[in-house]
Amino acid sequence: MKIGLIDVDGHNWPNLCLMKLSACHKAHGDDVEWWMPEGRYDRVYKSRVFTDTYSKDTITVDNAGEVIKGGTGYGPGPNLPDEVEHTRPDYALYPQFSGTAYGFMTRGCPRNCGFCIVSKKEGRRSTHIADLSEFWDGQKEVKLLDANLLACPDHERLILQLAESGAWVDFTQGLDVRLITPDNVSLLNRVKTKMLHFAWDDPNTDLTGCFRRFSELTSIRDFRRRRVYVLTNYGSTHEQDLYRVNTLRDISGSNWFKDRGLWQDNSYEPRPGDIIYFDWACFVP
Ligand code: SF4
Repeated sequence: MKIGLIDVDGHNWPNLCLMKLSACHKAHGDDVEWWMPEGRYDRVYKSRVFTDTYSKDTITVDNAGEVIKGGTGYGPGPNLPDEVEHTRPDYALYPQFSGTAYGFMTRGCPRNCGFCIVSKKEGRRSTHIADLSEFWDGQKEVKLLDANLLACPDHERLILQLAESGAWVDFTQGLDVRLITPDNVSLLNRVKTKMLHFAWDDPNTDLTGCFRRFSELTSIRDFRRRRVYVLTNYGSTHEQDLYRVNTLRDISGSNWFKDRGLWQDNSYEPRPGDIIYFDWACFVP
């Protein structure tokens, strides 16, 4: 079979589904390439992670026997078949990312936040789906895509795998600060961490104590490796937004935070109607 692949979102971030489909088809002896309008294909896969807000699908395919669309950007749909899901991704598609292993060890999240699709799509439990060895084979860096690793009952065993790999690990999607314990932080302290992300999105939950506790337990002192996102103006009042921003500012001792890609000083105040993500780049325990 001749297979064409389309990464609708562009090529700035490797598309894991396409990489796994590519590896699987190649293992079955099929020819796989990026789709070209002048080509001829038995099957074309279009994959899209983001919705219209970030990437519109403007590609018409009229040179294939069948076209299969998938990914969060197209809405809920079937999961990849197990054989594909558990295939090591084909980095030949994205040679620029070959030094980094991208993957999931868990899927799902119990929080079911209103603005997030993860719980609806992957389930309201965080479940172990793969060991690190399924998608990592010695790369210097791991980009972990798990939505809520700490909510998985197996998370300590999985963190240990990350620690023992000796690879730099970027927890790209955030760790749930509410689930921090002395035991899991002591394991996290053994991981070569490139970046830890947290979030404080729910205006009705005061996470001040959780952030303080993490600050006391973590051995990561480099503020460039720790970050917190705060979603404002989503079901929150202006006062609630200011409370979270100012609390984080007070805990961190940081004079700087990020608004729409621009670093601002403390004189900035979120305005009613703004939707802002803040990076909190500094912890002071
Ligand atoms: S905690 Fe994070 S991953 Fe889970 S539902 Fe909320 S935003 Fe999504």
